[in-house]
Amino acid sequence: MRDTIFAYIDNHKQDMLAFWEALVSSESGSFDKADLDKTRDFLVEHFKQAGGVVTVTPYEKAGDLIVADFNTAVKTEPIIFSGHYDTVFKHGTVAERPFTIKDDGNAYGPGCVDMKAGITMAFFITKALLAANYDKHPIRIVLAGDEEVGHQWSNATVDFGNAVKGACAAFNFETGYTDNGFVIGRKGGARAVITITGVGAHAGNEPEKGRSAILEMAHKTIEMHKCTNFEEGITYNVGVVSGGTVSNAVPEKAEMIIDIRMRTMAQLDIIKADLERVLNNNLVPDTKAELSFALSMAPMETTEGVKSLFALLEESAKELNFGDIFGKYVGGGADSSIEVIQGVPTVCAVGIAGGKNHSVDEFAVVETMFTRAKLVANTVLKL
Ligand SMILES: [Zn+2]
Repeated sequence: MRDTIFAYIDNHKQDMLAFWEALVSSESGSFDKADLDKTRDFLVEHFKQAGGVVTVTPYEKAGDLIVADFNTAVKTEPIIFSGHYDTVFKHGTVAERPFTIKDDGNAYGPGCVDMKAGITMAFFITKALLAANYDKHPIRIVLAGDEEVGHQWSNATVDFGNAVKGACAAFNFETGYTDNGFVIGRKGGARAVITITGVGAHAGNEPEKGRSAILEMAHKTIEMHKCTNFEEGITYNVGVVSGGTVSNAVPEKAEMIIDIRMRTMAQLDIIKADLERVLNNNLVPDTKAELSFALSMAPMETTEGVKSLFALLEESAKELNFGDIFGKYVGGGADSSIEVIQGVPTVCAVGIAGGKNHSVDEFAVVETMFTRAKLVANTVLKL
C-alpha cells in the first residue's frame, strides 16, 4: 500500500503544483468575505470531485468552516487533516506578487507557505490514500476560514472543536520548519485592555487639580512588564498605548492594550491575579482603571497523546530516511490547540517547510511538499 501511495504522490507532483498555484491565486484575506467565499467554493468543488462529503458552516463576517469527509463507509474514528484557508494578505496582493517558483527551489506568493501548500498536501495525501484503497480510518479535512484573526467574528473555535472531537489523531498542516522541528506545543495568547480615567485640568492654570491618566498608565505599563516570567512562559507585552487630547491639558483618559502569552490553561489563574493586582494598584491618586480580558488562543499542551503521535512520526521519518526530526515548542498560536483541548493527539506544522510568514518575503521550499506528504502518509498507515 505504501508503494502505491508514494507512486501516486510522485506521479502527481505537477498536479499538486498546479492546485497550489490556483489556490494561492484565489485570494482569501481574512477581512475579505467575498474572496473567502470564492476560495471556499474552489475547495468545496475539488473536495466533492474527489468523493468528499462536504459540510460548510457559514459565518456572516468570517470565512466559513469547511469539513470534508472521505472514506465515509469506514466506521472507525477519523484521522483529521486540518488547517486554514485565510491569509493575512489583502485583496490585490496576488497581482503585485503572483505565485512564482524561482531557481532557488523556493515558491513565493501570498499565503504560499501559510498555508496553501499545507492544504494542497492534505488534499493530495487524502487522494493518494484513496487511490491505494486505504480503509483503516475515515479521513476528515477541517479548514477554518478565519484562523489568522483568531476566529474573533465567528463561532469557529467551537465548531472546529466539534468537527475534530473523537478523532484518533490530527495533523495540522501549518507552515513546517526548515530545521525539521515539528510542533508539539504552542503558547496560548490573550488580550487585555486597561482603560484609565483620571481628572482633566488645564495644564497651565490649575495643573495641581489634574490627575494624569497617562502617568498612571506609565506606572501600570512598568508594573505589567515586571509580571513577565520567561521561565514559566508567561509574558506581558504592552503593545499599544493611547491617551490624552492636547498637550496643554492633564489627560483624563488613557488606554493600554496588552498581549499576554502562556503555556498552560492553568496559568490563566496566575495571569488573572497579575492583572487584578496591576489594575487595583493606582499610584496616581483618584484615578480609576477598568479591565477587559479575553483568551484569544488557548495553548497547545504537550499531552501524552501528542507525544505518542510524534513518536510515530519520528519512527516514520527513520523508516523513510527523512533525516532527524525533533519536537518543537513555539510561541505562536494555531488551531492545533483546539484539537488538543478536544483530547485529540495532534502534531502541528507538518506542512511544507518555509518561513517569513505574513511578510513579502514568505517562501516555501518546494521539494519538501512531496517529502513531507510521504512522511505524513506513512505515519497515517501506522494508526
Ligand atoms: Zn497559518
